[in-house]
Amino acid sequence: MRSLGDADILAVWETAQRYHPVDQAIALLMTAEPEHSRDELASLPLGRRDARLLSLRLSTFGDALHSRATCPQCNEAVEFEISCSALRTPDAEVHERTLDAEGYQLRMRPLTSFDLAAAAGAADVAEARRILLQRCVVDARRNDAFVNADELPGAVSAAAAQAALLADPQAELLFELGCPACAHRWQATLDIAHILWKEVDARAQRLLMEVHQLARAYGWREADILGMSPARRNAYLQRVAA
Ligand SMILES: [Zn+2]
Repeated sequence: MRSLGDADILAVWETAQRYHPVDQAIALLMTAEPEHSRDELASLPLGRRDARLLSLRLSTFGDALHSRATCPQCNEAVEFEISCSALRTPDAEVHERTLDAEGYQLRMRPLTSFDLAAAAGAADVAEARRILLQRCVVDARRNDAFVNADELPGAVSAAAAQAALLADPQAELLFELGCPACAHRWQATLDIAHILWKEVDARAQRLLMEVHQLARAYGWREADILGMSPARRNAYLQRVAA
């Protein structure tokens, strides 16, 4: 995996800015890992996808990640800094899980970007859950007879959703947060795909402004401006502003 340079960031931002977030994450990985096809990257269990996005974030923007969350107890906006490398764990075993609940025997597989994309068009959350469950249930039986995932009782569906999560322990990036206002502590989750895209978008906007200012002042080409080191570009920007 390589890090994203300034030209990469503008190119991926231009192509993927109108994509669904699931596809934006894949577009970022395709830029960093051109040796992998879109299908290969979209078939990764979500925990593997997120581990790669964390590595990409680290190599492109550094280890320290600043973000904010809302305290579930008092609604205070909590700013935090977290280390990308601390969130990365060695690749855990990802495999199908079996579940035996209320007379039903199920086999579940971990979710992938393809599944998220399939659920993205759902009318509401309940419909999205139904689609995800339908897709990650590999096999469902009761008394050796096949059962459609849609026909599972509520409690079995809930247990199945939990089993799908356990099939991919890294699918949720969990870390502990504390609220400075009410001292409540909780397990927060980090949506690295969302955060990384927001950072790429912010960097792209800044690069466009820098190109705009330098091109206007000196008549230089975009490719030449992007090809400069950030230090040299900043030095010229300071002179333009002086
Ligand atoms: Zn609080």
